[in-house]
Amino acid sequence: MDNKTKTKKAILMCTCSFACPSMKDINFGELAERIRLELPHDYMLLHPRLCEENGENLLADLLKDNVTYVTPACKEEKQKKLLRDGFQRAGVNMNSNWKPVSISFKNTETAFNDIKKALEEIK
Ligand code: SF4
Repeated sequence: MDNKTKTKKAILMCTCSFACPSMKDINFGELAERIRLELPHDYMLLHPRLCEENGENLLADLLKDNVTYVTPACKEEKQKKLLRDGFQRAGVNMNSNWKPVSISFKNTETAFNDIKKALEEIK
């Protein structure tokens, strides 16, 4: 599907069980509320572990071709491997419909700014 027919921007935030040492400086509650109030997007979902079975089940059931998914989570290369099965099961192309954001070793402010930038970069 080309960019002209993409209609929605969604944020799927993976919180790594709220326990990853690399995300200790992120207040996920504050981050989610700031995103909700300040950044234009269609909807947002927080999940504790998108790369495990029920996360993949959710991706397989949820992902759609007319949406671009911004995924704040671990490092981009790691996400690419860990989220691949969920995208595949949904039949949605990661190359065209996926925009990863690494929030590893970020704080709430820098994570917010990187998510903002990713949303702005979606055509
Ligand atoms: S996708 Fe990345 S951030 Fe999410 S639970 Fe797995 S390792 Fe952690």
